[in-house]
Amino acid sequence: MEEELRALLRDLDALKQRPDPASIDRMRDRVVGMTSMASVAAASTRSKIKDMSAEVVDSNPYSRLMALQRMGIVENYERIRDYSVAIVGIGGVGSVAAEMLTRCGIGRLLLYDYDTVELANMNRLFFRPDQVGMTKTDAAVQTLSEINPDVLLESYSLNITTVKGFETFLGSLKARSSHGRATGVDLVLSCVDNYEARMVVNQACNELHQTWMESGVSEDAVSGHIQLLIPGETACFACAPPLVVASGVDERTLKRDGVCAASLPTTMGVVAGLLVQNTLKYLLKFGQVSPYLGYNSLKDYFPTMEMRPNPQCSNPACLERQKEYMQSKPARDAAAKAKMEAEASAAIEYPVHIDNEWNISVVDDNDTAPSSILRTAADSLPEGLVRELPHEDSYVEPPAPASSGAIDDDLEELQRQLDALNSS
Ligand SMILES: [Zn+2]
Repeated sequence: MEEELRALLRDLDALKQRPDPASIDRMRDRVVGMTSMASVAAASTRSKIKDMSAEVVDSNPYSRLMALQRMGIVENYERIRDYSVAIVGIGGVGSVAAEMLTRCGIGRLLLYDYDTVELANMNRLFFRPDQVGMTKTDAAVQTLSEINPDVLLESYSLNITTVKGFETFLGSLKARSSHGRATGVDLVLSCVDNYEARMVVNQACNELHQTWMESGVSEDAVSGHIQLLIPGETACFACAPPLVVASGVDERTLKRDGVCAASLPTTMGVVAGLLVQNTLKYLLKFGQVSPYLGYNSLKDYFPTMEMRPNPQCSNPACLERQKEYMQSKPARDAAAKAKMEAEASAAIEYPVHIDNEWNISVVDDNDTAPSSILRTAADSLPEGLVRELPHEDSYVEPPAPASSGAIDDDLEELQRQLDALNSS
């Protein structure tokens, strides 16, 4: 549309030089066409929604998400609107992660990438052929703002590995910081495709005490991983660096001309799904947040593990965070103990089901007098009916067996009869 408008402007200027009635008619048709396209676009984008509603109607974009509360998975789904997430690298994983978070109704998304959309990206999800040539961040903002206009989107078309890019990156993370926090974002997601950029994200997050998640897909496109990094508490990216980083080799020298990494929309989609699932669990506090989750698609194997920080880490900011974490251990232990005690004292038993439409009650098996309950119901027989079977209480003990004395008397009588027979 933008290009079409520019062309129209050029034609108008040309018209000033040389009036041409046929050209005016053609221009009129083009304006009519663009007007109808604009009205279609305006009708398909919805206006902002102030509060997330749980109402189950087809026009509510949040009904399925708010149902997570009703299902008892998430305590307060609407809190997602309070969170800001920064995504570094809007490629095969980052763009899909951004779309998922946008559809989930995240409050604010900060997008970082220096690249432009190319036809070679079309084997992956998200970007469209008509976006070729646009910067990835602008193309992402275009699509995401149409999908969910409630999400605040910030586009940063820059390279974080340059000095200027790094400063802007740090500044944007620090903006809107409040409540004693060093940054204004709740989580940084690294979706980059090289170690240099990962080390830069690692540096920024270690400096800013910023929790982040790292993701990666292998060059042969059949495996990937996600990892949670909390400065000082878990291993940082430099604590256990890949061989390329540890050996100090410039990874760009490893790339051969005419050879590129393979990529599959499936593996990238799976890794983006795992990354955003872990993000939702972390932000909305449900389930177990994975410290590391691998994915090997050839064997459908998902290894998990925990990585402790390395006391000999090469990153000074990481060592600083490790020291702070160790020093705060007594305070953390005390807080954990107080929390456990508070939970134990607050553990009051509530009825499992508040509604009891059918007045169903459960009888305790250990109840010593269940018969009393049964009897109350059984005693009230309708008029005219009598019981055929004895009531359990009217059970009569069978007569006691005859005493041994009686048996002796019978034997004596039998003997007398036999004697009489023999004598006759
Ligand atoms: Zn480290």
